[in-house]
Amino acid sequence: MTGADRIAEPDGAATPGPVEALREIGFWLERGRAQSHRVKAYRRAADVVAGLSADELAVYQEAGIWQDLPGIGPKTAAVIAQACAGQVPGYLTDLRRAAQPIGAPGKPLRSRLRGDLHTHSDWSDGGSPIEEMMSVAAALGHEYCALTDHSPRLTVANGLSAERLRRQLDVVAELNERFAPFRILTGIEVDILDDGALDQEADLLAELDIVVASVHSHLRADSATMTKRMVYAVANPNVDVLGHCTGRLVEGVRGNRPESTFDAELVFEACRRYGTAVEINCRPERLDPPSRLLRLAVEIGCHFSVDTDAHAPGQLDWQGYGCERAVANGVDPDRVINTWPVADLLAWTAAS
Ligand SMILES: [Zn+2]
Ligand SMILES: [Zn+2]
Repeated sequence: MTGADRIAEPDGAATPGPVEALREIGFWLERGRAQSHRVKAYRRAADVVAGLSADELAVYQEAGIWQDLPGIGPKTAAVIAQACAGQVPGYLTDLRRAAQPIGAPGKPLRSRLRGDLHTHSDWSDGGSPIEEMMSVAAALGHEYCALTDHSPRLTVANGLSAERLRRQLDVVAELNERFAPFRILTGIEVDILDDGALDQEADLLAELDIVVASVHSHLRADSATMTKRMVYAVANPNVDVLGHCTGRLVEGVRGNRPESTFDAELVFEACRRYGTAVEINCRPERLDPPSRLLRLAVEIGCHFSVDTDAHAPGQLDWQGYGCERAVANGVDPDRVINTWPVADLLAWTAAS
């Protein structure tokens, strides 16, 4: 059973209630790469309906006045009414039927993944609360999922100050009590600064389960500068994963962006030597690293992490895109750290 099937039928063939139906529509739209404004209406409607009591639900349903509620339009109202009447909403049925498998040739690796090590919540630039992201990760069959919101200098992405990150750690600790045995790994996607230093307090980084380090600024620096910067970051004992190493964009609303230039042999050699996994970023607009670099990292003997970099729940099902590329380029599943049981993973990240 693929992850998507599990989401579609979390309890066998149970008919979803209105909130579940709206959220599941959001999931399928995001998974199918819909623009976020199309998805937002459904997620907002789910929140509105979730805030109603059973009595209020009955009153609105009886009177057929769902559109009197803020943020509910004709499409969301139809979904709610059908779900309240005990039917699977027609739009949801259509989306379930239309869903295509993702990256079928990567299945042998996808089936071995136990988690995802790069995801965002609405604490930074993600679209959904931590709880929602993680309940979908668990429903997809993951045993663990790292929450890696951005670091302070990425202000456009509402990066977390040390204080906010500490607060987030408390929230995650509470959620983990509820989600067990599924485990939310604490984490960060920390910016690699111009000199290779990291954009967060070292003590705090050392406390986290997973540190993904990525370049988000001055991507056009010359090769020598970029190489030094990346090697310095990769060698930092707190760093576990090198995120989307070339920074390229190959499609999508942000347009195209060429790869950063750096000495990949040196950077990947440093990854191998200092125990930092090379991320295979699953986002369709990134597909990073490109195949020739992926093969180079395999040759050098790096570890890998196949991560979605999800900014919305439906994007958590994008791992197939990265798995397909990993398999095509000869990545050994045993070298992929998120195929490992959580204890082995955390022993490795703590040691290297
Ligand atoms: Zn990033
Ligand atoms: Zn990210």
